[in-house]
Amino acid sequence: MFDLPSIRIGRVFGIPLELNVSWFVVFAVVGGVLTFSYFPTEFPGRPLWVNAASGIVGALLFFASIVAHEFSHSIVARRGGIGVDRVTLFMFGGVSQLSEEPRGPGRELAMAVAGPLMSVVLSTLLYLAYALMYDAGVSNVWWAPVEYLAVVNGVVAVFNFLPGYPLDGGRVLRAYLWWATGDRLRATRLASGAGQVLGVAIAAGAAVGIVTQGWEWVWMFVLGLFLRQLAASSMREQAVRLALAAVRAGDVMAAALVLGPHEPVSVVMQSAIATAPGSLIPVAADGLLVAVTDVTSLARAMSAQDSDAQVMSTARPVPPQALIDVRSSLEVAARAMQVSGERGLLVVRDGRIAGSLTVDAVSEHAITDVGPRRN
Ligand SMILES: [Zn+2]
Repeated sequence: MFDLPSIRIGRVFGIPLELNVSWFVVFAVVGGVLTFSYFPTEFPGRPLWVNAASGIVGALLFFASIVAHEFSHSIVARRGGIGVDRVTLFMFGGVSQLSEEPRGPGRELAMAVAGPLMSVVLSTLLYLAYALMYDAGVSNVWWAPVEYLAVVNGVVAVFNFLPGYPLDGGRVLRAYLWWATGDRLRATRLASGAGQVLGVAIAAGAAVGIVTQGWEWVWMFVLGLFLRQLAASSMREQAVRLALAAVRAGDVMAAALVLGPHEPVSVVMQSAIATAPGSLIPVAADGLLVAVTDVTSLARAMSAQDSDAQVMSTARPVPPQALIDVRSSLEVAARAMQVSGERGLLVVRDGRIAGSLTVDAVSEHAITDVGPRRN
């Protein structure tokens, strides 16, 4: 699903919002079902253009509802000190990409509950708006999409509260098990097991629906299989994140080779290859970090046969994402590498370069035993 391209459409509260291509299918289906099936059945005799206009308004309200649900998760996460890289909407809803996992079950609980709570609030407000319009004798053109979305938001809240990780209800379950056992990995394994069982149950129920009622159950069937798959892969991702979260950058960093801006490349090349093959190399003048370089850039200057080339001519500005505190976990480091595209980071203690961290050093700690694995 995430192999399909996503389009960044803007920022909400400073967090990038992306639409996966598969989302447009949902948008078209919601608009289409309203225009050609739901409205003509509920309000016979309305012209097509009225149903189409109401259908588009309904689809837009649906979009806004899912965005509000997802950003409720994100904003609670951010208030708890967890960065949100982006929010992506796709075929089966939305995903908030967090920079790290919540540090305690209380945070996890607050984050998980925020989304469905927003859906309940929206459902209530939309229902009130519908009731007011209905009582005031306003045309059904106006209240029909509002009434429909009141119901849809209620369904979204209930569905997301099903107790299978990574659904919101499954996160609540994980938070509870985490709190009760003190073991986050075990809690995740159990909640993700519940998610897989839930996914299989939904798919099985939908299969019965396809046989007895028809093809309208296909979407539900695919959703069930997707949920089972997502529960299994989230478990593996969690295990890796937890392993990384347990290690500090300062514990696995290597001593950093620091170069002066005016040192000749030909002189430093040997030691750069020997000590810092995959890392960022800090360039410092009078103890102050001014730029970074790496073995590839140094080698390029060497192969250009410019024997007088100085280190500074191979350097580039320090990418802000490339600096990490000694106390930060490898989970944060891995995320910083992913976001910045850097294969190495500079580890900083009290504003000074303390060492360097390579992608290899991080991935060594990402290997973990996740327990019984079924494939
Ligand atoms: Zn949610």
